[in-house]
Amino acid sequence: MYEDIILTTENRRRDSARVKLKLLVHGVQDNPELFQSLSFKFKEEHYAYDNGNWGVDKNRLVPTELILPGNIVSKVHFRPDSPISMRNDGGLLIIEEAGRVLSDFEFLPRPRFWDYHTSLGTTTKRLAQMYGKNCLNFNIFSGCQYHDTGFGCQFCSVTSTVTRKDSSVVIKKSPSELAEVCDFASKHDQIDHIIITGGSYIDSDREFDAHMAVIRAIRHKLPWDGRIRGNVSLMPPQTESKLIELYQEGVDHPSFNLEVWPQTAFEKVCSGKSHYVGFSKIIKSFEILVHHYGAGRVWCNFVAGLVPVEDLMKGFDAIAEMGVIPGANIFHPEVGSHLGNTLSRPNEDFIIRAYSHAADVYHRFGYKPFFNTAILRNSLANEVYEGLI
Ligand code: SF4
Repeated sequence: MYEDIILTTENRRRDSARVKLKLLVHGVQDNPELFQSLSFKFKEEHYAYDNGNWGVDKNRLVPTELILPGNIVSKVHFRPDSPISMRNDGGLLIIEEAGRVLSDFEFLPRPRFWDYHTSLGTTTKRLAQMYGKNCLNFNIFSGCQYHDTGFGCQFCSVTSTVTRKDSSVVIKKSPSELAEVCDFASKHDQIDHIIITGGSYIDSDREFDAHMAVIRAIRHKLPWDGRIRGNVSLMPPQTESKLIELYQEGVDHPSFNLEVWPQTAFEKVCSGKSHYVGFSKIIKSFEILVHHYGAGRVWCNFVAGLVPVEDLMKGFDAIAEMGVIPGANIFHPEVGSHLGNTLSRPNEDFIIRAYSHAADVYHRFGYKPFFNTAILRNSLANEVYEGLI
């Protein structure tokens, strides 16, 4: 009996992993009536960094994620041409593909810390969000100076998503207000991890110092004894001696995200990172961090779908051999990005091949994928690692 229950749960998780694969490859159709009827009952899109919702007015509330049976969270990207749709079937929320039911699902609730204001009167939703089920997330700078000089990463839409007068988020956030947010989230929500991201500054020492000022301000407001239990994503500083501060201030998993492989693709797709920091500087900085942290702690993320799958797999191998864990998000065209309308989306075979190779790498080196299936909403690394796909 007990074994039957385990088997049933496992089968449901396999089904959910397949549905998540379809959702991340194809996106889903908009359903304004459904979302109107459920307003404020789901965690809505936050638009702090990116926008993969085609044909959706940013002022209308739409869900940012959904959760499938077996604790598998998927990002929701709205695309009018998707064969996937959602509907309410007498109180049960259903996902269908061309009229065939794929799964039931639920939306994730709004984080409770969104009900509060900082001492300066800022609504906390303008400062941070919950990523997946229980991972606090904010961008210290919801913008990027690389875009200002024409060197933005080709897949990135941060400038058109955020940098505008009526932006729904605070573009440059102060360490003290972020510390208040961490305090609220620790007290009112279950948080197990955190993700802290840029954007980037042309002066990478300035970017690094801005990150460290926030890390120092928040580390004792979080529930992990001064540790930053999660990921801090940034570009390495020009001054190499600064790197040890990440280790000293308790950051569990710093990452410098190369996004694509090899170097020639990096120079083209991530021209700002290449121009203002440089591929060899990033590789050298990985070596320094691995010296402090040991192998299997530092991360490097890629975007799956921008280069041929063979190149992506070579990137996973090369990074893993340096002692760094590779990860990947699935490419989704973003409104306002350079590649939004020009690059076709990866298909399901591409994604399965890429993550199967990543899982082989993890097993070979004794690494673990980032976070877990309830957090990593735009990736299938955990699902493939667990053998669900
Ligand atoms: S570094 Fe690239 S991906 Fe990151 S915010 Fe700037 S342009 Fe976007």
